[in-house]
Amino acid sequence: MLIGAMNHPERDVLDEIRWMAEMKLEFLDLTLEPPCAAPWRLDFAQIRDELQRNNMPAVGHTAYYLPIASPFESLRKAAVEELTNCLRAFAKVGAKWMNVHPDRYAPMHPRSFYIKRDIQSLRELLDVAHEVGVGIMIENLPHDFNTVEQLGEILDEVPEIGLHLDYGHANLEVEEHTAPSLLHAFGPRLKHVHMHDNKGGRKDLHMPLGTGTIDYRYQVECLKGCGYDGTITLEVFADDRHYLSYSRDVLRNLWEESSAKTAEAGCDRTAAYR
Ligand SMILES: [Zn+2]
Repeated sequence: MLIGAMNHPERDVLDEIRWMAEMKLEFLDLTLEPPCAAPWRLDFAQIRDELQRNNMPAVGHTAYYLPIASPFESLRKAAVEELTNCLRAFAKVGAKWMNVHPDRYAPMHPRSFYIKRDIQSLRELLDVAHEVGVGIMIENLPHDFNTVEQLGEILDEVPEIGLHLDYGHANLEVEEHTAPSLLHAFGPRLKHVHMHDNKGGRKDLHMPLGTGTIDYRYQVECLKGCGYDGTITLEVFADDRHYLSYSRDVLRNLWEESSAKTAEAGCDRTAAYR
C-alpha cells in the first residue's frame, strides 16, 4: 500500500512533488486543474523526471467541475476534450489510472438523462484510454453517486470503468458509511482510494484522519480484507502540513495493526463480485 497526497492546483507542481518527497509520501495524486496545474501550462517531461528522481509513481486526478453530462452538447464535448487531454498527459507521466467525477448538473432533467450522458462521455473517453494505456475510474460523490445502487447505474453499464473510493464522501448524506457495501459490490474493481475525515451530514470538511466520525480502524480492516493493496491519497486540506504527516502516521499504524485481522473483516473479496 502506498500513501500519497494531491498537489494544490494553485501551486507549482514541481514544488509540490519536492515537499511530498521530503515528507516521505510515496506517490503523487496529480490533479490537472487551473490555475497552476492546468494541462496546457505544464511540462510533463519535467514532472515525470521529478517523480522518477523521487521514486514516486503518479495517479491521475481531474477537475470535479467538468460538465460531462451537460444538456448543452457543445459543453459536454468540450469537457470530454479536456479529459482527453488529461488522459494523454497522464500517459506521459506514467500514470495508470485517471479519475472522473460523474456529473449531475442538468437542471429540469430526470436522473436518467444525466446518467445516460455520463455513460456516453465515459465511453468516448475509453476509446482514447485504450490508445494511451491509461484506465478510467469514477469517484463516489455525496448525494447522487454514493451508494451501490447509484454507482451501479454507471459501473454495471460500463464494466471497464474502475472504482475510485473516497472514504470522506462515503460518510456524507448517508445513514451509514457506504464503503463496506461498495467494496462488497465492486471490490475487485477498486483502483484507488481517497481518505479524509468529516462529521457526516453535508459538509465535506477534508479533516485529518481520526478527527471526525469515520471509524477508520474498521474501514481499514474492511479495505485490507478485500485484498486491496494499492494507492491511498490523504485528501486532508489544511495549511499546516503537520495534519497531513499526522494522518499519514495514523493510516500507516492502522494498516499495520489490522493485518492480523483481515480474515475476520467480513468483506471477503472472493465473495464480493457483483
Ligand atoms: Zn476525493
